[in-house]
Amino acid sequence: MNLFVGKINSLIKEFSNKVETEIKEGEYPVATPKASEPVIVNNKNLKKASKILFSSDKSQISDDIILHFNELEKLIPFSSTPKAFHSAWELRTNNLNKFAADRLANEGAQLIPQNKISNIFGIRDQQGVMLGPNKRLIMGVRHSAGNYDDELDDLRFTYQPPRTVPGMLRYRWCEFLSKNLEIPFTMLAVIWLWYSIDVKTKIPIFIISPAQIINSEKNLRDFGKSLNSPLELQIVNRAEVYKSIHRFESMQDTLAEIRFRSDLDVRLAEEWSFEEIHSSKKGKEIKKWFKDNDKKCPGSKCGHIQFDEISDSEIGFGHIIPQDWAITFPHYQTILHHPDNLYLTCNKCNSSLGSSFPNKTNSSQEDIEKSGTIGDWLRRTKT
Ligand SMILES: [Zn+2]
Repeated sequence: MNLFVGKINSLIKEFSNKVETEIKEGEYPVATPKASEPVIVNNKNLKKASKILFSSDKSQISDDIILHFNELEKLIPFSSTPKAFHSAWELRTNNLNKFAADRLANEGAQLIPQNKISNIFGIRDQQGVMLGPNKRLIMGVRHSAGNYDDELDDLRFTYQPPRTVPGMLRYRWCEFLSKNLEIPFTMLAVIWLWYSIDVKTKIPIFIISPAQIINSEKNLRDFGKSLNSPLELQIVNRAEVYKSIHRFESMQDTLAEIRFRSDLDVRLAEEWSFEEIHSSKKGKEIKKWFKDNDKKCPGSKCGHIQFDEISDSEIGFGHIIPQDWAITFPHYQTILHHPDNLYLTCNKCNSSLGSSFPNKTNSSQEDIEKSGTIGDWLRRTKT
């Protein structure tokens, strides 16, 4: 069995167990614009809801998760900027006039007329929550102007669950995946407005933006009481989603657990690039930290000597992608002196490399992971 399928299977088991042992039968109110009856939750309809999320064979469930990210990736180029999405949200009307349309377009909105590319750009199904493959995951949520829960503070908003047991349970499952895969579960937030092309023709226009689940731990910690809690979502830009999708894809490609690195702040990366550290006070600061923290040279030529056993002048900054390679393959130039391409090494190991990648003769990827790149050191000490 594939490792990813195995991981999803164990998550399903853990989640199902939580449902069985922590959720109590009873009445669960859902906040709605007009007063509404609470949702009755009992063992019978909980079991039924679990069946919708987890029925059929288990590998199909992991396939649906993969399909979710694939579909999402294809729709991301249609996304508007967070700024434009925010402006569209603030319109508080269902009708878009030509002036507002122009302003939104200037802010980076993509005004997409109704079409059949995806049900995201259709209004046949009026439901607020749009479901993904086999109704297991949430593909999108629709915002309509004038909802009671209408604030978009800091590009964050909450979205109440549908008034059904499967609808509520699906919210928690998406949060559970988000937390345990350590990849923010991403969906699309959708706004649609009427736009008049001419006096006779009024068409629905869609503005979409990716939104990621945040604060998923909160509801999972208090699982027994959170079944009817809203989702907390954050509007993000396209780059953010591509990062998540890349992480998701790497997770399926490898048998080993990968450590993911968040992007370093650009200014920090510039401030601590090779030229800035290799013979300076900054470099001394790094060496001191590695000595104080009992770090060893990742190289095998010296037998992984402890840095505090040698002097600063015997320690240097090695490149993971060698400098010579960046001359031959110039696309490496942009990252050559980035802190994540640099690691601390003894001079003996460093000079034994010549123009090879460190794992060719000396330090394995695992060894460098263990002592960390200069970027890792920055993440630890400067952020
Ligand atoms: Zn060494």
